[in-house]
Amino acid sequence: MKMKETFEVFKLEEDLKKALKQGEFRLYYQPKVDLVSGKIMGVEALIRWQHPEKGIISPLDFIPIAEETGLIIPMGEWILRTACLQNMKWMAAGHHPLLMSVNLSARQLYQPNFAESVKYIINETKLLPEYLTFEITEGIMLDAFNAPKVIRELKNIGVQISLDDFGTGFNSLYYLQEIPIDKIKIDQSFVQNCTSDLNSSTIVKSIIEMAHRLKFGVIAEGIETKEQLSFLQQNLCNIGQGFLFSKPLPPKVLERNFYTIEQVIVREGIPPEASNQKLIRESIKNNREELLDRMGMQQGLIFRFKKVKGKFIHTLCDGKLLYRMGLSPECVIGKELREFVPSSLAKELETHYQRAWDGDEDVTYEKEFNGIFYITNLSPIRKGGEVVDVYGSSIDITKLKQTEEALKVSESKYRIIAENTQDLIRVVDINNFIEYASPSHEKILGYSPKAYIGRPIFEMMHKEDYPRIKKQYADASLSKKPIQAEFRLKKVNRDWVDFEAKVTPVLSDNNGEVKHFVIVARDISERKIREKLMRK
Ligand code: C2E
Ligand code: MG
Ligand code: MG
Repeated sequence: MKMKETFEVFKLEEDLKKALKQGEFRLYYQPKVDLVSGKIMGVEALIRWQHPEKGIISPLDFIPIAEETGLIIPMGEWILRTACLQNMKWMAAGHHPLLMSVNLSARQLYQPNFAESVKYIINETKLLPEYLTFEITEGIMLDAFNAPKVIRELKNIGVQISLDDFGTGFNSLYYLQEIPIDKIKIDQSFVQNCTSDLNSSTIVKSIIEMAHRLKFGVIAEGIETKEQLSFLQQNLCNIGQGFLFSKPLPPKVLERNFYTIEQVIVREGIPPEASNQKLIRESIKNNREELLDRMGMQQGLIFRFKKVKGKFIHTLCDGKLLYRMGLSPECVIGKELREFVPSSLAKELETHYQRAWDGDEDVTYEKEFNGIFYITNLSPIRKGGEVVDVYGSSIDITKLKQTEEALKVSESKYRIIAENTQDLIRVVDINNFIEYASPSHEKILGYSPKAYIGRPIFEMMHKEDYPRIKKQYADASLSKKPIQAEFRLKKVNRDWVDFEAKVTPVLSDNNGEVKHFVIVARDISERKIREKLMRK
C-alpha cells in the first residue's frame, strides 16, 4: 500500500513537471465585489491543471504534492508572472484598475530571496505593486521567526497582504499584531453557515467588527446565497467573493461576465444608497466608541462641560488621571464641580470655566487635587459664533512637581553652603573646563568667581602641578572613584596658595559615564609653612 502511494506521488510529480513544461496549467480568476458599490474591485487567481486526458484538475489535488516536492517554486513564479501580466492586459484594455490576489504557499515564502524574486517579476511585468495582493494562510506563520521578516520585506515592495481562511487556524489573533497585514478573509465555512447557525453568525459579525476596529479590510469568501450576501452587507463586510457573484473563470469568460456580475448587488442585495447610509451611521457609532475607548486609555483626562441654567455641568469625562484622582466618570458626568471637589477649589475652577465659556481660547491652569498635581487646558467649541461646549484636557504633573520641589530644596541648601564655605568649590567638566566656581574664590584668591567660569583649570595652577593633576583626573574618570589631590593656585598678588582637594566624579544618569568633577579644595598654606619649618 505504502509502495503504491509512493509510486503514485512519484508519478504525479513527474506529470506535474511535464505539465509545467508543456504549459498545461491555467489561471482562473474569481471576482471580488465591493459590497457597497457592487463593483468588481479585484480578482483572485486560482490555478487549474488542464490535463490532456483527465480534464480540469483542482488545485486541492496537486498543490500539496507541488509543495512537498518543491515544484511549487517554479510553479509559483509562473502563477505570479501570469497573474501580473493578465492584470496589465485588463488595464491596457481600458478596464478600471483591479487588485490581483495571488495565493502563496509556505514553501514559496521561505525560499531564499523570495521578496527579491517578487520584485523582479513586478519590474519585468511593469505592474504597479499596489495592484497586487498576496493571500497567505496561518500555516505560513509556523515559522514564527521568519514569517514577519519576509512579510515586512514584501510590504516594503508595496504589495498588500491578506490573511486567507481566517478563523480556521490556531493563532490568528496573535499574528494580527505581529505581522503587517492589510485584509482579513473570513473563511468560507463561517460564511456559508452565517444565516443558519448562530455560532457562525456571531463569529462572522465579531470578525468584521474586530477588523474594522483594527483598521483592516474584511473580505467574506464563499458567498453562495442572497441571504448570506445581505447578512454580510448589513454587518458592513467590505468585500465579497463567491459563487453567487461568479465561479473562478478563464479570463476571457470573466471579461464577458463583468456587467452581469456587477448587477448582482443591484438585483439580490441591499442597494448602494442604503448600504452607504448604514455604513456612515455605523462608522459614526464606531468612531464614537473608539474615541471613548481611547479616552479611557489615555494617561491624562478629557472632559467636556456646558453651562445649563447658570451651572457648569460636565457631559463627558474619562482618562486614567481621573482614577488616579480617586474619581470615576460616574462621579463627574451630569454633575457640577462642587458636587465632587471641595467648594474652595470648585470656586477657583469655576472662574476658569467661565473664562472659557466667555470664549477665551487660552485658559490654562495648574491645580492639585487629592495629592495629584495637574495642568488643564480649556478650549471652547462654537456653533454659529456662540460657545456651546467647552472641552478640557488635563495631564498629570505630580512627578514634575516633586522633582522641581526637590531641586529647589537642594539648590537652596547647596547655595548656602557654597556661599559661606571657607573652601573652594568647583565643578569641572570632563575636558577640565570650570563650570562653576564658589564665591569663596574671591575671598581666598582675590579673583571674582566669574573669572574662572569657562576657563581651563590649568590657567591659574602652578605649571609644575598641572601634569600630575591632569593624570589624577584621568584616573578618576576611569575608576569613577573620588581622589585626593594637592596643587597650588595663583593669588591676585601673584603669590601661590597651597590647596588640598577632594575630587569627586559625578556620573551621568543616562550612560553611567563621568559627567563632571566636583572639587572641594582647602587652603593648606599655613600647614605647609609649618611643615617647612619643622623640616628645617
Ligand atoms: P483559497 O485560496 O481559500 O481559495 C478559495 C477556494 O474556494 C477556491 O477553490 C474557490 O474556487 C472556492 N470558492 C470560491 N467561492 C466559493 C463558493 O461560493 N462556494 C464554494 N464551495 N467554494 C468557493 P480552489 O480554486 O479549488 O482552490 C482551493 C485552494 O487551493 C485555495 O484556497 C488555495 O489555498 C489553493 N490554491 C488555488 N490556487 C492556488 C495558487 O495559485 N497557488 C497556491 N499556492 N495555492 C492555490
Ligand atoms: Mg485564497
Ligand atoms: Mg480561502
